[in-house]
Amino acid sequence: MATKYSRQREEIKAYLASRKDHPTADNVYMAIRRQIPNISLGTVYRNLTMLVDAGEITRLRVGDGVDHFDYDTSPHYHFVCTECGSVIDLDMQNIDSILKLAGAGFDGKIAGHVTYFYGVCGNCCKKENTESN
Ligand code: ZN
Ligand code: MN
Repeated sequence: MATKYSRQREEIKAYLASRKDHPTADNVYMAIRRQIPNISLGTVYRNLTMLVDAGEITRLRVGDGVDHFDYDTSPHYHFVCTECGSVIDLDMQNIDSILKLAGAGFDGKIAGHVTYFYGVCGNCCKKENTESN
C-alpha cells in the first residue's frame, strides 16, 4: 500500500514540476490518469493535500474558486487573468512591508498576508488589440 501511494505522489510531483501554469486538481487528474489509469479524482486530491501539508508543494487560492497547485514553494506572487483564467508568476520585489502598514493602526499582531493580483494577461491584451484592429 505504502509503495502504491508513494508512486502516486511521485507521479503527481513530477507532473507539477513539469508545469509552470499552476494546474488545478482536475488538470492533475487528467494528466496522471495517463500514467495510472484507475486513479480517482478523490485520490489525486488527497495526495495533493498531503503534499501541501508536507510543504512539498503550495496550494494557491487566487479568487477564482478553484485550488491551483505550484511546485515552486519559494515565496512569490501570482497574477490571475480575468479573461482566460491563467495563473502567472510575477517577477517582483517582496511586499512584506505591507505588514507594517497593516499593523500601524492595529493593536494586535499581524502574522502574514495573502496577496494575488488580477487583470488582463499579456496574451489576452494582444488578442483584444488584434480584434479591435
Ligand atoms: Zn488571459
Ligand atoms: Mn507560482
